[in-house]
Amino acid sequence: MTEGAAAFIWLAGLVAWFVIRLPYQRRARRIRIVAAQRTLSERLVLPAAGIGLSVIPAFHLATGVFGFADYRFRPWMGWCGLAVEVLFLALFYASHRQLGRNWSVTLEIRDKHRLVTDGPYRYVRHPMYSSFWLWAIAQAFLLPNWVAGLSGIAGVGLLYFGRVGAEEALMQKSFGDEYRSYAARTGRVVPRIF
Ligand code: SAH
Repeated sequence: MTEGAAAFIWLAGLVAWFVIRLPYQRRARRIRIVAAQRTLSERLVLPAAGIGLSVIPAFHLATGVFGFADYRFRPWMGWCGLAVEVLFLALFYASHRQLGRNWSVTLEIRDKHRLVTDGPYRYVRHPMYSSFWLWAIAQAFLLPNWVAGLSGIAGVGLLYFGRVGAEEALMQKSFGDEYRSYAARTGRVVPRIF
């Protein structure tokens, strides 16, 4: 695989992310919000993830601005990146399908919100965030640059660590013992381990 093909795969992943998410984003606008967690950290983490996963790498691909931090691309990196990218998109799609009308881009409880515990949610409480970690790892394989390749990991790290505690607190407040027992039998992002 060439460096150009790897960059193309990264870009195709970004487009696929947008296409998968769009219908959920549209539907969410029509469902009433009954509780929300809008702390400062919650307001900052989403743009941080967006900057790391799309703005920095796209800007680099368009302008070569971080060229000083390039390293040598090897074909195996591209193939690993492709494999991880496919896993990311599959899990991203599956978690949206499973959450359905309960999905929100920020921390919100919707009218008639149901605790989802099946599909990927049977094994981990945050499969969508697992998919974001995969996305960031794929980016690191696909873009051979210390800044543009690794900015995704920094962005997802900020989103994940800045949000997951507050999200679980909100879920616990809304679903009480049902969530506590669900949390006791699942991992956060890696089944059984973490
Ligand atoms: N953290 C989850 C969901 C991300 S979307 C994941 O990574 O898969 C964020 C929204 O999903 C939050 O507003 C929260 O209200 C909702 N949510 C999170 N876990 C849920 C679950 N198990 N069932 C229903 N809604 C959930």
